[in-house]
Amino acid sequence: MAEIYDLLIVGGGPAGLTAATYACRAAKSVLILEKGAFGGQITWSPKVENFPGLLSVSGTELGDMLLAQAMEQGAEVELEEAVSVEKREDGLFSTCTDSGTTYLSRTVILATGARPRRTNLPHEEELIGNGICFCAVCDGAFYRGCKVAVYGGGNSALQDALFLADLCSEVTVIHRRDSFRGEAKLVEALRARSNVRLLTGTIITALEGDGELNGIRVSTAGKEALLPVDGLFIAIGHQPDNEAFRAMLRLDDSGYAASGENCLTETAGLFVAGDCRAKTVRQVTTAAADGAVAALAACHYLDT
Ligand code: FAD
Repeated sequence: MAEIYDLLIVGGGPAGLTAATYACRAAKSVLILEKGAFGGQITWSPKVENFPGLLSVSGTELGDMLLAQAMEQGAEVELEEAVSVEKREDGLFSTCTDSGTTYLSRTVILATGARPRRTNLPHEEELIGNGICFCAVCDGAFYRGCKVAVYGGGNSALQDALFLADLCSEVTVIHRRDSFRGEAKLVEALRARSNVRLLTGTIITALEGDGELNGIRVSTAGKEALLPVDGLFIAIGHQPDNEAFRAMLRLDDSGYAASGENCLTETAGLFVAGDCRAKTVRQVTTAAADGAVAALAACHYLDT
């Protein structure tokens, strides 16, 4: 008979990996399913300097440490995408994956995080990987010495721009509002760079290039201009990855899953943790905190 796990975790980012560590330490059997790279979004960050106790660490290192810690405590891991989760009449959860495997568990934590938002401009999809990127750390090196633009005004956009400023000849940061949402310190750091230009109150209206991006059209107060660039790094936020589990969740207008303080959903035994749930702060610390809270709530559910 197939193993019945105490806890199945969908998503191997900071939330899912921390949840696994806590549940394993409470002597629960745990399986984590990850569809991409263990470590989650933070693996895209070159430097993390706000995780408590770690002065400076690369996102990949942090992800590797979180994974090693969870596995050291006994978590099992599989590189598979969960495509559905159902609660059966006998109270067990049945999770199906893209490989056709079905896993059974007594509880589930959805820690699916979020993925980068698109501009939805024409030709965007065909230009992804051919000039359009969502990750400066992953793809910045391909644009060494080139002109690039970064679209967005939050911390991710500003961090991407700083990273690219070390590699690229010119970096233009384009933001639709008049002031940046990201930390003032990052804005100051960008202003101090001679190869960075900050364009606020500006939107991108078109992506230029046949098969490969060679420019973008921008509009500032209704005035259009063509900006020749080799690369565009889009950093306009994230979309939660909850769609496959919609039937089991209550989603807000942006697709984030509603839950109580203890990360419990309206389905007993089903929890959400990290960036995929409705909350105000989405950081590694808050994802890890959610993971701990959800895992301990799942343990409580299993033990009572
Ligand atoms: P994620 O990290 O998004 O992990 C979710 C995981 O679930 C992903 O690996 C995904 O592949 C997987 N998944 C999704 N759906 C499925 C499925 N159906 N089946 C299987 N697996 C699935 N935070 C900080 O605190 N400090 C920083 O300096 C910082 N810098 C950042 C820089 C960048 C460029 C980015 C993008 C983010 C940064 N963040 C930073 C934010 C931080 O990375 C996130 O808040 C954190 O990773 C959220 O963790 P999570 O586990 O909730 O989700």
